[in-house]
Amino acid sequence: MTRRPAPSAVAPPLQARGVSYSVGATAILRDVDLRVGPGELIALAGPNGAGKSTLLGVLAGDLRPCAGTVTLGGTAVHGIGVRELARLRAVLLQENRVSFPFTVADVVRMGRAALEEDPAADDAAVAAALAATDTLHLAGRRFPSLSGGEKARVSFARTLAQDAAILLLDEPTAALDIRHQELVMGLARRCADRGKSVVAVLHDLSLAAAWADRLALLGDGRLVAAGPVAEVATADALSELYEHPVAVVPDPVTGLPVIMPRRGALTCVR
Ligand code: ADP
Ligand code: MG
Repeated sequence: MTRRPAPSAVAPPLQARGVSYSVGATAILRDVDLRVGPGELIALAGPNGAGKSTLLGVLAGDLRPCAGTVTLGGTAVHGIGVRELARLRAVLLQENRVSFPFTVADVVRMGRAALEEDPAADDAAVAAALAATDTLHLAGRRFPSLSGGEKARVSFARTLAQDAAILLLDEPTAALDIRHQELVMGLARRCADRGKSVVAVLHDLSLAAAWADRLALLGDGRLVAAGPVAEVATADALSELYEHPVAVVPDPVTGLPVIMPRRGALTCVR
């Protein structure tokens, strides 16, 4: 696939070097190195509690590492002002916390809050994000009344409306049906193809294999592997990481790896 990002959309490199993060005496991230460049979609996976959300928070500049650095375009992420940071990176949190009865359109418009006001551009960005995420029909609904999957799509629409160069997405597809999983990953892919950077926490490794350029695996706060999915996602490595037998089989149509718990007599491709 040819990727020719428009110059204005190209994301500055986001780089974590030697990042450790602790809460009290508990080490949650240990010496993590990860670089995300423009045009890249990186899937971040690993067992529950491995530190994926914490790493996303550190990359976003929301959590301060106790050792190591996170730089965005060469500048320490903590030295970047709130407005500039909002232009540079959008964050989709794992939980969609909106307790007030805002409408869906209000929630998506919140993605524009830290940007310079431009009513016409704001309206266009909100409408485009709603349409892209198949949530236009929900625009007037109260956000708390939505289903889990609808909330997830609206929250993703909010991050799209922000039009930031870097998208940090924590389990964007966890609550979604098959069609909407593909829709959301297709949109994330398109953002990357246009020169943005995307880091998406995913549990579904087949989705990662289909849409990501690289897979980063976290285990117990350490980056245990990072590279092209076909190289990193081996049955042995994943079985060890998840402490459960994992099968990796080729998709009969695309040949891409399909990754699932090993059950019965499946043939493992390594
Ligand atoms: P993941 O997203 O990979 O499931 P998290 O990054 O949310 O994992 O959390 C990693 C580990 O750190 C978990 O064991 C979690 O309980 C712990 N943790 C995260 N934040 C805190 C905190 N503020 N205080 C104590 N423990 C925390
Ligand atoms: Mg998490």
